[in-house]
Amino acid sequence: MFLIYLGIIILLPLYAQFKVKNTYTKYAKVRSTSGMTGAQVARLILDRNGLQDVKVVESQGVLTDHYNPLTKTVALSTQNYHEASVAGTAVAAHEVGHAIQDAEAYSFLRFRHRLAPVANITSNASWIFIIIGILASSMNYMLGIGIALMAVGVLFQIVTLPVEFNASTRAMNQIVEHGIIRNEEEPHAKKVLSAAAMTYVAATAVAVMELVRLLLIFTNRE
Ligand SMILES: [Zn+2]
Repeated sequence: MFLIYLGIIILLPLYAQFKVKNTYTKYAKVRSTSGMTGAQVARLILDRNGLQDVKVVESQGVLTDHYNPLTKTVALSTQNYHEASVAGTAVAAHEVGHAIQDAEAYSFLRFRHRLAPVANITSNASWIFIIIGILASSMNYMLGIGIALMAVGVLFQIVTLPVEFNASTRAMNQIVEHGIIRNEEEPHAKKVLSAAAMTYVAATAVAVMELVRLLLIFTNRE
């Protein structure tokens, strides 16, 4: 049981990291038949969805791609911004997927944004209660409070999953619908997006396992 636990919390995130790096590196080298850079892909999909006000900018670094709802900006990492690759196309479309979610006020995205500041505070505060609760078994209620606070952070990570999967589904639909990728490129773009989603699944699995472990300590003492 303990080995399964260790396997999940250590190996799963490592495997996910390895998988995303590997898949991304592989398809970042495959030139897309459209010849469009990530920046062009993002611009085209945004415009076709009536999102001319959303800007596309370059962000420094590798895989730093993200969508900023506050500034209405799709930020693409240097390579994805300038190069025309299958990986860059998939990632650009995924980030635009978040912009479309934002424009449509997609429920999970809204909930995630509302939860973010709360989860940030509770996750940081939870450790103080958990450490006191674990060290002083007479104050098991402290552990209980810590677990409750931590649960908010775990909920945040769980809500991230439908947001990410939905953005990838939208990305695939958009690049197919607007003829940005060809049939034979479809499975490759999907592989890039699935690998990226794996890192979120791994992080969530680890968070849930940690919560369950603490919950078991808590209930065993009661
Ligand atoms: Zn995303």
